[in-house]
Amino acid sequence: MLVLERAPRIDAVGAGITFFANAMRALDHLGVRAAVATRGAPARRKVILTRAGRELTEVPADLLEGTIAVHRADLQGALAAAAGEVRLAVEVVSVEPEGDGVLARFADGGEERCDLLVGADGLSSVVRGAIADVPPRYAGYTAWRGVCSVPVEPGRLTESWGFGERFGLVDIGRERTYWFATKNAPERGADEPEGRKAEVVRRFSGRRSGRERLRRSRRPSCYPTALRGAATSPPGSPTTRRCAGPGSRPY
Ligand SMILES: Cc1cc2nc3c(=O)[nH]c(=O)nc-3n(C[C@H](O)[C@H](O)[C@H](O)COP(=O)(O)OP(=O)(O)OC[C@H]3O[C@@H](n4cnc5c(N)ncnc54)[C@H](O)[C@@H]3O)c2cc1C
Repeated sequence: MLVLERAPRIDAVGAGITFFANAMRALDHLGVRAAVATRGAPARRKVILTRAGRELTEVPADLLEGTIAVHRADLQGALAAAAGEVRLAVEVVSVEPEGDGVLARFADGGEERCDLLVGADGLSSVVRGAIADVPPRYAGYTAWRGVCSVPVEPGRLTESWGFGERFGLVDIGRERTYWFATKNAPERGADEPEGRKAEVVRRFSGRRSGRERLRRSRRPSCYPTALRGAATSPPGSPTTRRCAGPGSRPY
């Protein structure tokens, strides 16, 4: 197996990610389930709260069985250890069927032939563009994500809902908490002048669980993301020849 990655080096970037049972099964198939599970925290309870912290509902416990929440850098470490050959600074610019296989061409003029190419090159995927001419659709909201070294109740995931806003806290183990916040906003809006962290604290200061943790975070990371959804491939698209190597570098 060969992994092709555009980035010149693998950095420990990103916040948290929650793997529900189906995703853990996929990791099992790749032989990295245990490596990911030991780096993260099992999810035991997920509750939806009001803005003021009152419990609205709880996700049935059986839906959480086998769920693991992990820091994306830890996931990346587990995947990188199992990935085989990883070629960095290789940008795939086109993908096309060739005989029984696939030909991938690179920005530096290189190319690679393979039997099967798996596209894991993100929302603006070159691989996806080769088989589906449907651009991602902006979902109408933007998210901030980060990790802070302030623990929440072990295994607890919360999401509090306000007017056009959401705030979530997820235990990812070793006394680290992954937090995310969203606001409904036009696409490609600029950061507010006060800065990202100040905006998040101001917006979510009414939420009992979020405010203090963010404030107390000594090394706050803050990744803004415009949420887009990729429409499904149109029926009849030539998915059978899809393949591709751009490597998965979870953010
Ligand atoms: C706020 C937020 C929260 C999320 N939370 C969850 C969650 O809890 N659980 C969950 O399952 N999913 C979650 N997701 C979705 C999940 O992050 C994505 O589905 C997943 O990261 C997509 O993986 P990917 O490898 O295709 O793309 P990415 O993770 O975007 O990685 C793409 C990689 O390909 C490289 N690349 C791109 N183009 C090229 C090219 N042309 N040539 C070579 N390399 C290239 C990039 O450098 C990068 O390393 C979340 C997404 C967001 C935005």
